[in-house]
Amino acid sequence: MSLKKYNEKRNFKKTKEPKGKKETSSHRLKFCVQHHLASHDHYDFRLEMDGVLKSFAIPKGPSYNPKDKRLAVMVEDHPLSYRNYEGIIPKGEYGGGTVMLWDKGYYKINYYDKNVLKITVYGKRLKGSWSLINFKDNNFLLIKENDKYANYIKISQFKTSIKSNLTMKEIAKKYKNK
Ligand code: MN
Repeated sequence: MSLKKYNEKRNFKKTKEPKGKKETSSHRLKFCVQHHLASHDHYDFRLEMDGVLKSFAIPKGPSYNPKDKRLAVMVEDHPLSYRNYEGIIPKGEYGGGTVMLWDKGYYKINYYDKNVLKITVYGKRLKGSWSLINFKDNNFLLIKENDKYANYIKISQFKTSIKSNLTMKEIAKKYKNK
């Protein structure tokens, strides 16, 4: 049910993105981050919940500085298999542009209520505790908690895929005629 929007937005004859199919959740919750250069450059932060990936588009990407509040807009749920997706979505299709798998790993939920989700992520690049705070409709703020990873790195220093080691330009070139 929750992948209905995902499937409706896409033409699977044209895009190589995975079809939306709900899966059984594993005992270790997965997450991924994709760098997505579409009409606007952004990062997609996806968290496994109830057999799908809850998804947030973050225009500026996550920040390790606890003083930064990064806008994270909740978008349609994605299938779990999307956590491995990298490639190009054809121009004119929904989300048309280059998608890089920027990070993946596991996470755990530390706390949640109606407006707040506190998690710890175990990725290669994204680490430590983070809060997602719902302030209006589908709009959230992603904030780094003050832990040993605060101010750890600047995310912009990672310019390659954790899957293929390719840059955005190289991904665009590789998948151009596929
Ligand atoms: Mn996106």
